[in-house]
Amino acid sequence: MLLIPGPVSCTDLVIDTLGQDSLTHTGPRFAETFKRVLLNLRKIFNSSKESGSLPLVLAGSGTLGFDLVGSNLCPTGKEKLLLLSTGYFSEELCECLREFYKLDVTVLSSKQVGGGIDIVVLQEMLQETKYDLVLMTHVDTSTGVLNDVEKLSGLVHSHSPESLIVVDAVCSLGCESIEFDKWGLDFVFSASQKALGAPPGLSISIISERALRLVLKERNDVDAPPRPYFTSLRKWVPSIQSYELGGKVHYFATPPIQLILSLDVALKELLETDYVTNHLSRSNWLKMQVVEEMKLRLVTLGPVEKTAHGLAAIYVSNPSEVMKRLQGIDIDIAGGIHPAIRTKYIRIGLMGRDATKENLLKVLEDYVN
Ligand SMILES: *Cc1c(COP(=O)(O)O)cnc(C)c1O
Repeated sequence: MLLIPGPVSCTDLVIDTLGQDSLTHTGPRFAETFKRVLLNLRKIFNSSKESGSLPLVLAGSGTLGFDLVGSNLCPTGKEKLLLLSTGYFSEELCECLREFYKLDVTVLSSKQVGGGIDIVVLQEMLQETKYDLVLMTHVDTSTGVLNDVEKLSGLVHSHSPESLIVVDAVCSLGCESIEFDKWGLDFVFSASQKALGAPPGLSISIISERALRLVLKERNDVDAPPRPYFTSLRKWVPSIQSYELGGKVHYFATPPIQLILSLDVALKELLETDYVTNHLSRSNWLKMQVVEEMKLRLVTLGPVEKTAHGLAAIYVSNPSEVMKRLQGIDIDIAGGIHPAIRTKYIRIGLMGRDATKENLLKVLEDYVN
């Protein structure tokens, strides 16, 4: 039983779909499936075709989203970036952009582990400096902090409408509500193996019309920094657009056929459910048990219902022992990854096929007994 915050357990149909032979990557059978995947992703991102946005599906994991930001949204290399850090994954994104793309990244971190972003400080920073990009992690999987992306994005827009808003939604797409168009977001990246319920291997993202314009702008700046080829959206956009449009497929590089076929099934299954509400109620139920019945403390600060709905991060006195005991009855949960508290807590995934109330009760009961 897999109860970690990604990769998650998939349904039988999603897994069976992986075992098919390849289809012609530019042929009508695969193109039809890829088109449906893109249209279904629009529903999950809440973004219309008319907005001029484009969903993207590339071979890779969630981390590829970091490189998509670094190699496409900072074309001059001189952009000013503001990164709102709420845990380990925000810090990883910072490392990527700062160390590997040599970008100018200012970081505003939550004051306490498990806490959110100080709005007053953010406001001051936005008044003082104009940032080209503001980046945030929707759910930081190390702390369970759920950022109010709508509010943060609104605040950034009110001070600096030109700033592009980038969101790491690897652990939120498919379990939290995301309103790409309404919230005025510009680039949101995720992955196949968390709340979307598909196997690992796909980087899934969406880009706004104005960010696309930046990406596709002709440049003859000889000083522009070198950027990788495979992550170049300039190369990918015409291909993905052709899949969404239908008709003749524009080839850039071969998509992972089987993974996209299985994602198609996973998205259809997800869209048949009320996934945001389901995650919310299951998460609230589990956390109330943990806090009220078991008298344990959550890593995430603030009211339970405002913490991430795809995982629970819980302080326990003996994390490795709890994990070992659960492994003994074939249940995998995750340990801590936030460097400041790594050995002090466990993380229980609330996404995927196995994350049923019944299975979660087994975890809690085992801990209590
Ligand atoms: C899992 C995760 C990542 C990394 O995704 P990979 O698929 O492991 O590369 C990045 N950000 C967040 C918030 C995550 O939960």
